[in-house]
Amino acid sequence: SFHKSKGQHILKNPMLVDSIVQKSGIKSTDVILEIGPGTGNLTKKLLECGKMVIAVELDPRMVLELQRRFQDTPYSSRLKVIQGDVLKTELPYFDICVANIPYQISSPLTFKLLNHQPSFRCAIIMFQREFAMRLVAQPGDKLYCRLTVNTQLLARVSHLLKVGKNNFRPPPKVDSSVVRIEPRKPRIEVKQKEWDGFLRICFNRKNKTLGSIFRQKSVLSLLEKNYKTLCALNILQQGSADNEDSAFDYSRFGNSNEDQTMEVDDDGDDEEMDVEDGDAEEGEASEFKGKVMGVLKEGDFEEKRSSKLTLQEFLYLLSLFNKAGIHFS
Ligand code: SAM
Repeated sequence: SFHKSKGQHILKNPMLVDSIVQKSGIKSTDVILEIGPGTGNLTKKLLECGKMVIAVELDPRMVLELQRRFQDTPYSSRLKVIQGDVLKTELPYFDICVANIPYQISSPLTFKLLNHQPSFRCAIIMFQREFAMRLVAQPGDKLYCRLTVNTQLLARVSHLLKVGKNNFRPPPKVDSSVVRIEPRKPRIEVKQKEWDGFLRICFNRKNKTLGSIFRQKSVLSLLEKNYKTLCALNILQQGSADNEDSAFDYSRFGNSNEDQTMEVDDDGDDEEMDVEDGDAEEGEASEFKGKVMGVLKEGDFEEKRSSKLTLQEFLYLLSLFNKAGIHFS
């Protein structure tokens, strides 16, 4: 019997498994990471193509079944099974990842893979169709969202294959798609917290103009608080420049690399909402507000909307804010 809670939907169509493996472009020297091998239908084909398969599987019953399937075959020495939750497992080196995953871990798994070092060549992953379409969306597409931009910051993503429910046993409720994820090399360097804070604000109301988003009182007061903290620290820092015993930890505000993990929810919380939240427009004109609007004007962003901004435009806008001393973390 299969565990629904573990997202156990076994691929039963051998032609589809062949097609996924074929599109993966596996080399005979590749170390392949498979996530959620289940009963091993995909694993078998991967073993035929690559040098080695490392498979991470949560369910001990599946692990046993998998080991039983390949023991006493020529494959057994090239298969390593790790029992555990892939999200809590330290991943080994791999060249390529091929997986039909449980859909509930789509988002954290994607970012776990993309933050893995050294980075791999590519990942070929089955996702729920809508999640897949979010990953590959382009500016202006209905599903273009924070998840899209965060993923495309780290990788090039393309859609490979549409897969109907009936290719699985038991069939899931939703259709699926196979996607190819290729980490960018070199990486685009951003300060994680800064970038994340910035995108959350931009996509808070993705169909509103950036002008109206950044005129919201709540946004302005958050940014102004950050701004004042930084100004105060800069003054302190200058004052104590030659005082080595300074008790302040300035590194907190620097280019720190702590907290690389990124939580990205894909629950569509970025849909346009028509309710007035009383917070929406105008505050009294302030000097700081003028500064923020000045940045938007400088880059000609005031009338633009996040739903149509390219990755490069987001990067550019954040750099303009930072240049003006405005920070999001
Ligand atoms: N790869 C198989 C196939 O295509 O037929 C099975 C795919 S099934 C959609 C997902 C598999 O992932 C199940 O075997 C399930 O036990 C396993 N799984 C679920 N959560 C997991 C987790 N957090 N870490 C590792 N494996 C997990």
